[in-house]
Order: sequence, then structure tokens, then C-alpha cells
Amino acid sequence: MSDIWQRSFNIILVILMTIVLWMISSAVPALIFSSGTLLWMVFHHVRHVVALERWLQVSDHTSASIPAGSGAWDDVFAHLARYVRQHSQNQEQLSLALERMRRITSAMPDGIVILDETDRIEWCNPVAELHLGISLSLDAGQQITYLVRQIPFVEYLAARKYSKPLILKQARQQGIIVSLQLVPYGFKQKLLISRDITRFEKVETMRRDFIANVSHELRTPLTVIGGFLETLSADEPINADFNKRALALMTEQTTRMQRLVEDLLVLSRLENEQNKVNDKPVDVASLLRGTLQDAESLSAGRHQVKLNIATQDQLLGSEEELRSAFGNLISNAIRYTPDGGEISIHWEKKEGQGLFFVQDSGIGIEPEHIPRLTERFYRVDSSRSRETGGTGLGLAIVKHVLSRHEARLEITSQVGKGSRFNIWFPARRLISVDQ
Ligand code: ADP
Repeated sequence: MSDIWQRSFNIILVILMTIVLWMISSAVPALIFSSGTLLWMVFHHVRHVVALERWLQVSDHTSASIPAGSGAWDDVFAHLARYVRQHSQNQEQLSLALERMRRITSAMPDGIVILDETDRIEWCNPVAELHLGISLSLDAGQQITYLVRQIPFVEYLAARKYSKPLILKQARQQGIIVSLQLVPYGFKQKLLISRDITRFEKVETMRRDFIANVSHELRTPLTVIGGFLETLSADEPINADFNKRALALMTEQTTRMQRLVEDLLVLSRLENEQNKVNDKPVDVASLLRGTLQDAESLSAGRHQVKLNIATQDQLLGSEEELRSAFGNLISNAIRYTPDGGEISIHWEKKEGQGLFFVQDSGIGIEPEHIPRLTERFYRVDSSRSRETGGTGLGLAIVKHVLSRHEARLEITSQVGKGSRFNIWFPARRLISVDQ
């Protein structure tokens, strides 16, 4: 039986009983019966309406708090309970999805700002707060250009040309470079995506400087050689003296270029992360005795070079790389020490660590240059460096070798008195052979 018939059945029954009562008795009992039944029905409905109204007034609408009903109201309340249950499930799913979204956007390495039609901040993630120096709790609803005021940014936003990102060098956050990209979405809304490209920009600057430096280093020797070749290939007769001088100078410049290329190759090998250190026990004492001979031939008797080996301890590392690091420091000491000066080379075990140092009585280095000496092509006095055959890469090579051997470089110097370059090797790289 359909709902409508089931509900109408009681009313038809009451009407029939009233008619029967009227027929077998009189109108009064029939009227009393029908009015009593109607009153009871009104009371039944009012009671449920009041219960429903009370439930609607409470703030916490859970299906558990829905009142119990009877008759037709039983169905109404059952439907209501189902609806409330469904609604709270949807609500739960929605807040879970929102929470998941919040966690995803917070974990993203990029900053995200949602801007409305008039460029007011609707929402942003913590990374955007950091990149742009804004705060969601304080700045929501604010015009973004009141906070990020740089002219290029204001122009970028106004131009509405979303195809290219904007590189902002002076973001509100000091020292960071961000790339900003606008993405339109929804109804005139925009996403502003920010990315920290400070590291990338630094690497790019280093790459540009490096190419400029290498080109500059190669230009002078190539110009000298080119000039001589032009003169020599001219038809005019050339005197023997000029010929000899030209050949000597061309050889010198070629050697200079060769040294530069060799140092560049060494650096690129050291910088290659796939090229791991080939750790083997290195007999530092015998390695240094070999380097002493090279030092003496470079000095050609102009300096007093002393070697002091206080420990026979060996080092775990690459012999070739260590020879290159020690050799660079020793050759620098000779090249930057005037004739008659003293150079000491020393190897000892100190406080459990391996200590190698080269001390000279040379020209010394002003304190402001010391932190930058290991940068590629950084020179205090370029002409002295070149005159003595320097490439400007020696200390950069030393720095890389040391970092591959977990060692530390310490430089102390006094102008006019000399310099000392200490290398500290960690205890775990020392192999004790002293009995
Ligand atoms: P270079 O080939 O020019 O010597 P390096 O990288 O070996 O390049 O050294 C960088 C700079 O550090 C040198 O140009 C020089 O100015 C300075 N320097 C290095 N060692 C010494 C030293 N022992 N005494 C004085 N200055 C030094």
C-alpha cells in the first residue's frame, strides 16, 4: 500500500466509525467521538512539531539528538536523521580534504598566494610568507602591492602578461632572489607562485664570472703569440735576435696556457661528485721529501727551505690529490717570498689530528683578502701572480682537495712578515705507524 493510502486509512476509519455511531446511536456520541479523535490527532502533531522546533534550535545537530517520533513523524525523523548523518559525513570529508590541501601546500617548496580580482590577498602558504615577507593572519584582505612595493613587481602585476616569470632581486626578505609567476584561474582570480632561485642565480653568476675569467686569462698569451706569428710570417727579413726573443716569449706564453688548462682540468676532476676519493694509506713523510726537491728546484737556491717531519703517521686519502694540495701551498710560499727568505714545511700529529703546515717569511697578506683567497682566480696582486707563473687556481684546488679529505684550512698572515697555511686532518684519517 502506498504512503498516501496508509496515512489516509486512519482518517477514513474515523469517518466510517463516526457514521456507524450516528446510525446506530445518535449525532451526539458520533460528534463526541469524532471531536475527541481530532483533538488527539492535533495534540499528536503539535507534540512532534514542538519537538522538531526544539531540535532545530540547538546548535549541535547530530543524528543522535533527533527526537523519537511515532506515526507519520517516525518517517519524518528517520529521514531527518539520515540527512544529518550524510551531511556530517560530507562535512568530515570536506575538512579532511581541506586539511590535506593545507598540509600539501605547506610542504611545497614554492610559495603560493591566492589573489582576488583586485589583487587582494585571499590566502597564502608559509613559504610565500617567507619569500614575500607577508603574513596571512595580518595581511589577508590587503592589496599585495601595498606590501610588495618594488616597481618591477607592481608593473608586472598591472601588465597582466602571465607568460613570463619576474625575477625579483630585492624581495622584502633580505638577500633572497625570487622568481614570481602569475597564473590566472577561476573567476578573475590569480595564483602568484614564488620560487627561491638565490642558489641558482649565484651558480649562474659564478658560471658567467668563470667564463669571463678564463677568457681573460687566455687572451693575453694568445695576443702575444698571435702578434709574433704575424711579424714572423711577414715577408720582411727578421734578425736572429728578434727570432730568438720571439720564440722564448711564445714558449713562455704557451707554458702559461698549458698550466692554466692543467689546473682547470684538475679543478673539474675534483668538482665532479661522481669522482670519489680513492682512499689509500699515504706515506706523508716520503711524499713531502719528494715535494721538497720540487720546491728546491723552483727556488733555485734563492730561499732556505726546511722540512720537519715530526711523525711517521700516514694519511688515508688520495696521494695524487694530497701532492697537488701540498705542492700548491709550497710553491706559493716560494713565489711570494723574496729572495733570501725562509720556508718551513712541517708534518706532525697534534691533539690527535694530523697537522701539515707551510710557513714563509714572505710578503704576507692583508686580513681582508684572507677569506677570499680560495675563490677561483682571486689574487691579491695579479701582476706578481702572473710573473711568477700563477694561474689564480692554486688555492681553489687546495680547498677542493681538503673538502674531499674532510680537512680544514687555516690561514694566518702578517703583511711584510710572512704567512702560514695550516691543514688539519681529522683523527679518523690518521694511520699510526709510530711504535
Ligand atoms: P696564484 O696562482 O695567483 O698564486 P692561488 O690560488 O695559489 O693563485 O693564490 C691566490 C692568491 O693568494 C695569490 O694570488 C696571492 O695573492 C695570495 N697568496 C697565496 N699564497 C700566498 C703566500 N704564501 N703569501 C702571500 N700571498 C699568497
